[in-house]
Amino acid sequence: MGYVVSKEAFDQVLQKLGEKYRLYAPVRKVGEGRFTDTDVVRYDFVNRLEDMELDAKSDYAFKEILTPLSQTLFFFTEGETKEADMDISDAIVFLRACDLHAVKSLDDIYLRNRFEDPFYKKIREHIKFALIGCASSFENCFCVDMGTNVAPDDYIFSIDAAGDQVKSAVCSDEVAEIFESISAKKEDVTPAHVTENPVHVEIPDQIPNSIFKSDIWDEYSSRCIGCGRCNIVCPTCTCFTMQDTFYSENGKVGERRRVAASCMINGYTNVAGGGQYRKSQGERMRFKVLHKISDHKKRFGHNMCVGCGRCDDVCPEYIKFSNIINKVDNAVEEEGR
Ligand code: SF4
Ligand code: SF4
Repeated sequence: MGYVVSKEAFDQVLQKLGEKYRLYAPVRKVGEGRFTDTDVVRYDFVNRLEDMELDAKSDYAFKEILTPLSQTLFFFTEGETKEADMDISDAIVFLRACDLHAVKSLDDIYLRNRFEDPFYKKIREHIKFALIGCASSFENCFCVDMGTNVAPDDYIFSIDAAGDQVKSAVCSDEVAEIFESISAKKEDVTPAHVTENPVHVEIPDQIPNSIFKSDIWDEYSSRCIGCGRCNIVCPTCTCFTMQDTFYSENGKVGERRRVAASCMINGYTNVAGGGQYRKSQGERMRFKVLHKISDHKKRFGHNMCVGCGRCDDVCPEYIKFSNIINKVDNAVEEEGR
């Protein structure tokens, strides 16, 4: 089922949805980029179609809506704890096919990884997704080779805006009723998806443990500066650390926060007694890459990396995750010869 409407009529749809849901979408923040006179595209509230940036990849993923960068979990006093209040009102998040695949990985980690995380679950239960169609590939995307160019069926409607029109495939009775209420024209709509990217990757079916000792990781000990940007923009990086903030000098009153962390930053693997599991940036890169293209798949049946290319877009050292995947593939092939 689908509908074709003018942009003005689509704003009416958004307005009606906005009465019940918070609407999040990529928004261009003019002049707020990393360098002077550059923009950044990140998630924020929207009310109208023109609030959304649909012609560029978002620099940051949607994940902060589900896993805030800093989240107070509970407050404590000497003998009591109180869970922090959370904004768990219903929301719709507009995202692209690769990011919708990324949601599966977030759910794996927070809902299916031995325990259910109650804080994540509370937010997740109130989130629905709307799909932004991709008419063409962006720089550094490799979603086709990762099999994430076509969206899973977890969206309630899609949007493809072209010219004065918006086409929507609708998979929810609630949304269909809204389109019907504005007498939208019915049409079969298939959300746009890319079938070709400029960047290609090949992932070996089996990655032997001997890859741990490969010299392909060595160059990153000098090239990677451990800034952690690649983790922060990645829609599937989920690592966090705990911080206790004390309000009183005796350390008995305060709050516990969950704060986003990065496996590429020095100190991430520090343990009591002064130990550190992965000391060099090469070792940290090995851990990150193999988690994204091997370890998660062994456990949950699909790769964690969705080929969005954001890490490649943002790396100040021009390190390409896609190149590293291909280096792993070559190393495994050479070993098999
Ligand atoms: S590792 Fe890079 S390409 Fe893969 S999902 Fe994360 S940001 Fe996107
Ligand atoms: S963004 Fe680049 S330099 Fe920074 S930690 Fe990631 S790979 Fe290393």
